[in-house]
Amino acid sequence: MHYLCNRTGKSIDITMDINEIRSKHKLLRRWEYKWTPLDKGYTDKSLYINVGTIDIKEKDIPLAMKEKFIGGKGYGLRYLWDATRPETKWNDPENEIVISSGPIGGITQYSGTGKSLVVSVSPQTDSIMDSNVGGFFGPFLKFSGFDALELQGKSARDVIIFINGVDHYVEIFEAPAEALDSHLLAEQLTEMFADNDSDKKNIGVVSAGSAAEHSLIGMLNFSFYDPKRKKVRLKQAGRGGIGTVFRDKKIKAMVCKIPGVKGNLNNVVDLEAIMERGRRFNREMRELDDKQCRMRKVGTAHLMEVMDDHDLLPTHNYKFGSHKDSPKIDSAVWTSFFTQGIPDGCWIGCNMACSKAVDDFVLSTGPYKGQSVMVDGPEYENAAGLGSNGGFFDPRYIIEANFYCDTYGICTITWGTCLAFIMECYENGILNKERTGGLELTFGNIPPALELLHQVARGEGFGKIAGQGVRRMKKIFAENGWGDPAFMQDIGMENKGLEYSQYMSKESLAQQGGYALTNKGPQHDEAWLIFMDMVNNHIPTFENKAEALHYFPMFRTWFGLVGLCKLPWNDVEPENNAETDEPAKVPEHVDNYVTIYKAVTGRPFDKVRMIEDSERVYNFQRVFNIRRGYGRRKDDDQPYRACGPVTVEEYESRASRYDKQLKEKIGFDPAGKSTAEKMKVLRKYREAQYDSLRDAVYKRRGWNSNGIPTIEHLRKIGMDFPEVIAVVKDLQ
Ligand code: SF4
Repeated sequence: MHYLCNRTGKSIDITMDINEIRSKHKLLRRWEYKWTPLDKGYTDKSLYINVGTIDIKEKDIPLAMKEKFIGGKGYGLRYLWDATRPETKWNDPENEIVISSGPIGGITQYSGTGKSLVVSVSPQTDSIMDSNVGGFFGPFLKFSGFDALELQGKSARDVIIFINGVDHYVEIFEAPAEALDSHLLAEQLTEMFADNDSDKKNIGVVSAGSAAEHSLIGMLNFSFYDPKRKKVRLKQAGRGGIGTVFRDKKIKAMVCKIPGVKGNLNNVVDLEAIMERGRRFNREMRELDDKQCRMRKVGTAHLMEVMDDHDLLPTHNYKFGSHKDSPKIDSAVWTSFFTQGIPDGCWIGCNMACSKAVDDFVLSTGPYKGQSVMVDGPEYENAAGLGSNGGFFDPRYIIEANFYCDTYGICTITWGTCLAFIMECYENGILNKERTGGLELTFGNIPPALELLHQVARGEGFGKIAGQGVRRMKKIFAENGWGDPAFMQDIGMENKGLEYSQYMSKESLAQQGGYALTNKGPQHDEAWLIFMDMVNNHIPTFENKAEALHYFPMFRTWFGLVGLCKLPWNDVEPENNAETDEPAKVPEHVDNYVTIYKAVTGRPFDKVRMIEDSERVYNFQRVFNIRRGYGRRKDDDQPYRACGPVTVEEYESRASRYDKQLKEKIGFDPAGKSTAEKMKVLRKYREAQYDSLRDAVYKRRGWNSNGIPTIEHLRKIGMDFPEVIAVVKDLQ
């Protein structure tokens, strides 16, 4: 079997086979360690690897760090803070990639318990990025003896890191012959490091891909082995360009191998309590999933028609929220593409099993043209981002783009939003064939869209610009005098330098905050309030919205501290959930999590402490951004496209809605007024609303009017380390 190397253009035989590839390895360092088994979810050890100095060592995790930062993102932030200076750039050797799961990560008796958080200084935002991911590596790292992994330094040549949790050593070796793109590399390394076929389930691989090398939007793929398909599959730590950092360090891949997953490897204090909650949840999945979200059949892609029906599905760069052709890419279509009847969990024991895949898909373009591949996804974000948002309603195109984004190592959400921006620029004359190197990048035009993606991977042509992300594209286009900077600012869907994920926030003020009043930028993992706010009108006042924008980001942060997937929290709900006091919080599932945390760690815990633990870490991340010159009010500005209609076309497509709002909410009579006049009044109102929301949220979060946590608040929540106070004391 051959593939075309993106860099050399040469055909490489991947059956060159594993032994031959391995023979090209050059061992740079081997470090042996004494294995520490897990106790109550922790080893209290971390692994430090510097690929520049080829230094490898372990560190003890102090009790104080464990108590304040819990694990996962908390550990990542703490280590990154200590490793970097305020002026450290993403491509400085001292920047780190920190990977950590959390105390619950790796149990198998409840669904969604295998997540890891990856933290780094982002090439896109220059602030602190975190990205959550499934797959095997995070839990396997724990089973190998480490709660967290710090990667620092820059290698001169491509290296692979091998963590052997069976014989307890770590190796760094030069690895020139392996493929770079993830679908091949993960297969090769799984084959190489497994003792035999049945051992493949004990290998976890982290890799990026060729586009991660040539762009700022690179992502990491974490593998998991699918024993039914007998294939290596991929989950993504997508946001913010951490794959770019990985490749800048010249890390080709990391491999972790363990003896196996069985029994009670986390050595929890009360396994039966976890199993009991696990059985309850599994019953809900069996009895309710088909009636509710159909996660086991279609994954998050079930949202396609729900979003379209509520005018929330981004189409044509977030101009509109629905499209006549959206049935061509709705959940029925995806159900027919996804192989059914296979338990698609990205971690062992997950009964939600939403990681659906398309098997035997024949690629029509690119270096793997003509090959039959398995494609992980599309999930909702892929289908909307790569699909409707770029005006694409051909499912086969979406699957192909999804495959290439994954294997090239770029974030599908980011790429979808970048491409949509490019297409709107093209349709407005900001771009043209001359400027794009001959690519006619209009909405829905498939061949040039795929060619552009391949260019990003090859680091060629307009692909070099497209892979910089929306914020830098706006700057480049403006510097070249190609378009009006104010218009590009309005339509370029990024905040803090990160591209928006795939929901329309125009009609939900709370979701505007859920996107832009975040630490890392507009990703829906902090707060997804559209239904509560817009559809159900459950949080009508600024104070209600501010309360939701306090509780939900804190609550959701907790998943990233302990190693949990958020989807089982509310993608199936207990039958009586609507009758509870606070249905949006899904109280029974929160109680499951409280029970599980106590049962793993043996620590006293309740739902109040859950929020307190998160609030400390959340504020630490805010202060970390402030230390780097961000995290202020201006950094929470949103593009107007996230808030209201930028163009006449947009306004007029929903004229009755906007006219009604002018009349009823603003007291402005639209009769006889031009669209331009009406747009101006609406914009002034909506921007003022967002500013008032920002004030209310800052107040609720204990921040001053510039978005800086007050010293009093930091003391109250126990995040008053001297180095933290030093950052904010002159900004009070
Ligand atoms: S719910 Fe889906 S994403 Fe979450 S752990 Fe299970 S399979 Fe993975």
